[in-house]
Amino acid sequence: MNRSFIFPPQAIVGLPVDGSAVDFPVRRIYCVGRNYAAHAREMGFDPNREPPFFFCKPNDDASVIPVAANVTGALPYPGNTTNYHHEIELVVAIGKGGSNIAVEHAASHIFGYAVGLDMTRRDLQMAMRQQGRPWEIGKAFDYSAPIGPLRPIAMTGELSSGEISLQVDGKTVQSSDIANLIWSVNETIANLSTLFSLEPGDLIMTGTPEGVGPVSPGQILTGHIAGLTSISVQVSG
Ligand code: MN
Repeated sequence: MNRSFIFPPQAIVGLPVDGSAVDFPVRRIYCVGRNYAAHAREMGFDPNREPPFFFCKPNDDASVIPVAANVTGALPYPGNTTNYHHEIELVVAIGKGGSNIAVEHAASHIFGYAVGLDMTRRDLQMAMRQQGRPWEIGKAFDYSAPIGPLRPIAMTGELSSGEISLQVDGKTVQSSDIANLIWSVNETIANLSTLFSLEPGDLIMTGTPEGVGPVSPGQILTGHIAGLTSISVQVSG
């Protein structure tokens, strides 16, 4: 029997897929904190290999901004911040679910990869961190997750190294290599799947390298990861 609702339920966000006419339906968005040593240091932490930790972003169309290839998306500057930061990240899309996935089987659960931005109200995140409170207001706000087209792993092969960089108005401000991830993609999937049952449609934002910093209205952010479709967004006032 078809259920009906007292108002239209939220739409499922779809990410464009390279080489496909149909979109990838987004389920949950998991994010890894401090997963590059140089970024952990710039945030004031010892980058010893402690277990990965996770937070989430909302999956609705007010939070996720799918950005098509060769298009500059609009990224609204959020309220309640004076320190709005870029974080370029490798996004991993799950195509096959599972729990307690072994590291050596993790790659078989990957649908593909994308370039994403874990946009952050750094002032609010730091204030919450200092008080031992949850990070949501600093991380899980509206328009906090611009994500570019997914490229299937069938096209890329497994990504374990390759340049990751972000330019602000053409100037490179973040530059590293996927090989510098403290917890590799496969290790991250394995660990996350002990905490949550992964399902097709889940996304994992794998962490940002060093060089995070503030952006202003009008600036254009361009993110690149070797082998993937680049992402471009302009911060709007
Ligand atoms: Mn991040």
